[in-house]
Amino acid sequence: MINYFFKTYGCQANVADSQGLARFLDELGCKEVQTEADADLAIVNTCAVRDKAEQKLFSYLGELAEHKKSRQYMKIGVIGCVASYKKKEIYQRFDLVNFVYGAREEYDSLKAYLMDSVVNLETTKQMYMTNPDANVKSGGQDRDVKKVVQFKKLLSTPRFVSLGLNRLRQDGVYPESSPRDGQEKAEKKVIDKPGAQKPQELNRSYVNIMTGCNKACAYCIVPFTRGGEVSYPMAQILDRVAHDIANGAKEITLIGQNVNSYIDPETGYKFPELMRRVAAIDGQFWVRWISPHPQDMTRELFEVIAQYRDKLPGYVHFPVQSGSDRILTLMKRNYTAAQYLEQIGWIHELLPDATISTDIIVGFPGETEEDYLATRELMEKVKYDLVYSFIYSPRKYTGAANMEDTSSYQDKQKWLEALQDRQKEICFERNLRNIGKTFTCLVEKRVAHDKLLARTEGNVRVHFQGPDEMIGTFVKVRIEETGPVNMIGVLV
Ligand code: SF4
Repeated sequence: MINYFFKTYGCQANVADSQGLARFLDELGCKEVQTEADADLAIVNTCAVRDKAEQKLFSYLGELAEHKKSRQYMKIGVIGCVASYKKKEIYQRFDLVNFVYGAREEYDSLKAYLMDSVVNLETTKQMYMTNPDANVKSGGQDRDVKKVVQFKKLLSTPRFVSLGLNRLRQDGVYPESSPRDGQEKAEKKVIDKPGAQKPQELNRSYVNIMTGCNKACAYCIVPFTRGGEVSYPMAQILDRVAHDIANGAKEITLIGQNVNSYIDPETGYKFPELMRRVAAIDGQFWVRWISPHPQDMTRELFEVIAQYRDKLPGYVHFPVQSGSDRILTLMKRNYTAAQYLEQIGWIHELLPDATISTDIIVGFPGETEEDYLATRELMEKVKYDLVYSFIYSPRKYTGAANMEDTSSYQDKQKWLEALQDRQKEICFERNLRNIGKTFTCLVEKRVAHDKLLARTEGNVRVHFQGPDEMIGTFVKVRIEETGPVNMIGVLV
């Protein structure tokens, strides 16, 4: 049996891609392992959004080299966003890497390639096990995965077709998303045998509903690494969600680089209709969705959420990036602070108790103290429940990479710290208002011997005492104490 290991960097879209490939490898009879030391096949799924992504990847490949020294038959692959634009360099610098496959490429040929690799690995691993001193090697670099696949005509082999895995990525909500088989099996075990061990973590499903992006935000590398938008057919997304719910998923996250510009290629239905139809699926579950863009935000979406609150939680992650119109224009975000605030008004009107989070970039090139203060002013108006804030870092191949920077790094740090300190106060004030209230919470996992972690529908963390059997279930918790991040409560 082939053991595989995934190292996944970056966003939920990458997590979903790794899950999909892991599921594929499971179907081929492979087994996931928790450490590189046990892996015959190691796949690194890379992210290019944050600075230093390449350095991280390169130093990790250095770590993998140590493992490969002792087991030279081991195969190593690099996929994802960094693989999209650093393919040549990775091949040149790292002999140990067998394949590099970018996020823009069709995953069907990668899967065909993996299937072939697994067959080869079974042979080389057996040779290695028989004689570890024989120095069995993994077979060098396959610099053009697609050519290898075409050459071997793998796409039409009976095994590939029989697994139903010859679907293209564009109808690939199946391969790219699902709770893992392991989880499914664990859930089934519980159903089949009362008293059997329950899974130790909430069964979550990440469903890619689209990939790529047609926007051109000046700081973002995604359009370059993932290409233009491709929405997957709604019928398949709905099948996927129904399948995952039937297999125990309690939280479904619909994922897209620009999730609310989704448009069904078959019917033309848009994101609000998808949400409506997901919410109409039988079962008890919550649906989360990331990440939307204000330019594509419609009032209709919040009307749908208001209508299906049992399944569609009152939680909106709504990235603003800056409160200064001048900076928003430089960022090419295509909205103004006033337009954004009008949309926030829709949320307050239609979902009065909803929580709202956002992303903010501090110190974009050309940002002045005045621009920064405009962001702080917007924060005070919205009073976010959570803010993910970062100092701008230039990314090669993006529009902002060569823009003139006018503020010092020290200023940016000072701005960020002040913004984060204020946000902590706001979070604390907001959580204090919850003391004495009872919330329906979804239990995620045990975090201490006497503590379970759950989240409210608004995505606020709650600690409480309860048995392991509650993991993956909905419970009611009354809040008794709170800090800025975690609330503490008791079961009702
Ligand atoms: S909307 Fe902007 S930030 Fe989001 S993925 Fe597209 S380009 Fe990047």
